[in-house]
Amino acid sequence: MCGIVGYVGPRDGVPIALGGLQRLAYRGYDSAGLAVAGRSGLKVIKTRGKLVDLERKLGARFKGSPIIGHTRWATHGQPNDDNAHPHLDESGRIAIVHNGIIENAAALRERLQASGATLASQTDSEVLAHLIAASDASDLEGAVREVLGVVEGTYGLLVLSADQPDRIVVARMGSPVVLGVGDREMFVASDVAALVRYTQRVVYLDDGETASVQARGFQTHTLDAHPTEKETFAVHWGGDAYERGSYEHYMHKEIHEQPQAVERALRGRIDARFDTVQLGGIDLSARDVLGTRRIKILGCGSGYYAGLSGAHLIESLARVPADAEPASEFRYRNPVIEPDTLYIAVSQSGETFDTLAAVHEIKRKGGRVLGIVNVVGSTIARACDGGIYVHAGPEVSVTSTKTFTSTLVTFALLSLHIGRIRDLGPRDGRRLIDAMRALPEQIARILEAEAELADLARRYSEYEHAFFVGRANGYPAALEGAQKLKEVSYLHAEAYPAAELKHGPLALVSSQTPTVAIVPSDHLFDKNLSTLHELRARKGPIVAVGHGDPRLEGICEDAIGVPRSEPELDPVLLGIPLQLLAYHCAVALGRDVDQPRNLAKSVTVE
Ligand code: GLU
Repeated sequence: MCGIVGYVGPRDGVPIALGGLQRLAYRGYDSAGLAVAGRSGLKVIKTRGKLVDLERKLGARFKGSPIIGHTRWATHGQPNDDNAHPHLDESGRIAIVHNGIIENAAALRERLQASGATLASQTDSEVLAHLIAASDASDLEGAVREVLGVVEGTYGLLVLSADQPDRIVVARMGSPVVLGVGDREMFVASDVAALVRYTQRVVYLDDGETASVQARGFQTHTLDAHPTEKETFAVHWGGDAYERGSYEHYMHKEIHEQPQAVERALRGRIDARFDTVQLGGIDLSARDVLGTRRIKILGCGSGYYAGLSGAHLIESLARVPADAEPASEFRYRNPVIEPDTLYIAVSQSGETFDTLAAVHEIKRKGGRVLGIVNVVGSTIARACDGGIYVHAGPEVSVTSTKTFTSTLVTFALLSLHIGRIRDLGPRDGRRLIDAMRALPEQIARILEAEAELADLARRYSEYEHAFFVGRANGYPAALEGAQKLKEVSYLHAEAYPAAELKHGPLALVSSQTPTVAIVPSDHLFDKNLSTLHELRARKGPIVAVGHGDPRLEGICEDAIGVPRSEPELDPVLLGIPLQLLAYHCAVALGRDVDQPRNLAKSVTVE
């Protein structure tokens, strides 16, 4: 799940490969290595540890092209020098780097050993090098295809051969691979972040595709050797967008980028003439919209929580029954796919394995699915029948912040679009458009009050457990708030619909268990107030996140006020202080904010 890079062209590939791997380092890794093809065959240098350790080992004579590089996040075998990638076959004529897991590696190992091969590592990946070397296919791409025919599992794979030292052969199954097209040079990586410094033109490989990549271009094939046509996408972000700048953490930077991110989500999409929005990427006629009886949203983690919020927006603005479900649950329960249901897949990276599998399941059964995705040209974006890009910009921190907020805004746009075709009048259309346009400035105002929130976070970081509660559209905000806190501070947090507290968790409330309550000044305010009284009666400390309502005074220890929006859009703003709360708790506790333990940014495994 970590990093892969490759370069083929006239330049020395070493700094390019190292620079690319550095860009992917935020994902966490335990070893690193490079292989280069030269006149005298293949050379490999690899090590346990960090990229600086690798650089120390390289020496001036290690240079050239084509080159492949890897940062490993061990799945099979200890993180040590032998298990670091690249791996060679016994003759040293084939080198591979691999992301993912070869599920039938044990059987393949036995087979190789039975035929006399000696393997140098404990990894599942090494078998690939031996098998490719043993193939009698006439060229490298053919050999790779032949081997992948007997391999089960997931791979992003780069292969070098001493016999064809002008190319890198690449393959993908369930682990992303992207090609970067340069001027008489080509780049390969597991993530565009590694390429944007060199080129803005990228080609995404699909699962079950191989590519033969040379300086002058590339050809792609399916695993059964049929040529495939590829589209080149333009990446709109340069290398700067991936820099941390003056911020100490990417999460902090990304929280502060939200006013601009929301502005981008709205840009060019508001159609003031008809008090509605226009969404170029979705091919839904007004008649299709009228024929839609239900909307089902699928996502994982924050994508799922954004979907829950989206379902509220759709129901309240478009009056179409809508709900959200974790994509993993959906795909495994043999779902009924209905022709008059519109499915929506939500994913930041557009590579989330479970969400992609759900999309395939829906399409296989004849359903129609739209994507709400951040990364342009990503696998889910391409697999869907159209969609809406979130345009949050690159999100590097593992914890989603700006993408979550921009996804809510994107749902608001979609809800308004569908609503205006159905029951929503122009006056409501105008009311919501005005409210959406005000969001960036309102978010900026919340961010200005950061110092106060940081102080509050420091105080609350001393508790080990917390509840988050909200009602109706405040509940997804509570879920996401609890998730943020868990992810980055490792404090235990649980979210409940406010009224559910008394059906169980209230038993745990004491002076040692604070509750963060989402309490906007809306029609549910009095109900929420009752919940706060219940907590108060058990001495539970309360942080109320609302609109600075004076009625909260005396009930809660701390109140955080955000500007008011329209009630449907309030959750967009109520979520921002929760991000800052989680961030500052994590900082106060000295956590690794951008690389929380055990987590990965784009979850491309099951
Ligand atoms: N499964 C391989 C290993 O343990 C690759 C891990 C990775 O994706 O970094 O070496």
